[in-house]
Amino acid sequence: MAVHFKYHPAMVAGVDNPQTLSIYFVDDQLLVKPELLADPSQHMPWSYETLSPEPKLALLLGELNDSPCRVVQLESAPDGWQAVALRDYLLRAPEPAFKVINAAAQLRYWLSTQNFCSRCGHNLEFNDSDRALACAKCGYLSYPKVSPCIITVVRKGREILLGQPVRIHTEMYSCLAGFIEAGESAEDGLKREVLEESGIHVHNIQYQFSQAWPFPHQLMLGYLAEYKSGDLLFDPAELRDARWFDIDELPTIPPRQTISRKLIDASIQIIRQEHS
Ligand SMILES: [Zn+2]
Repeated sequence: MAVHFKYHPAMVAGVDNPQTLSIYFVDDQLLVKPELLADPSQHMPWSYETLSPEPKLALLLGELNDSPCRVVQLESAPDGWQAVALRDYLLRAPEPAFKVINAAAQLRYWLSTQNFCSRCGHNLEFNDSDRALACAKCGYLSYPKVSPCIITVVRKGREILLGQPVRIHTEMYSCLAGFIEAGESAEDGLKREVLEESGIHVHNIQYQFSQAWPFPHQLMLGYLAEYKSGDLLFDPAELRDARWFDIDELPTIPPRQTISRKLIDASIQIIRQEHS
């Protein structure tokens, strides 16, 4: 199912008409039809339907398959629609929908937190000349927030280091990840985060690819790294568990469309080449 998506170059509410696609949210939950939940690969989470009541918030996100596409936040789910946790949907979403919903969710969250100018306190307003909200009093422009993070798989011999973050309740083991500090390079951030979370020093850091992740506005920069020194001693404030896993005895790991899984797969491929 091909999906062509293009961002709208300004920050406007857009117009709802029968040609407009809408992506609906109630707070941070995505609104979908029950048939989508039964099989997310066969249905896209946007609709030409206009749902009532009046939206709490609406933004023209861009063009989706040549139709205008809006992000719309409602007060409650109308009959026949179901609110689903964003993470639960994204972990099952087909790749084209994953990207669009990622953008929609990040902008919805950002917009819901941008009421007043952070310089002078006046109201912020939509703006048809830039992708930013504008202060009518002092002219300050507020751009959508993007927070860079590193995410990495460390490998040692035939093993890779995976952990379970304390804030996510799942049996799944995933990559180590963390926010880059102001003024820090991604590579230094990676070394610091891995050391803080696991007690492990790494080297031979190689950039692979990136992926946006809307919790709430992260840009995950994906790296592979090699074990250098140190004993595994995970930080219980960050991780519920962390272990070295042999690549033939992996636990439950994230689904294929996530950057975490792509990094795990890339590490497995390197280890198989090195140990064949
Ligand atoms: Zn201002």
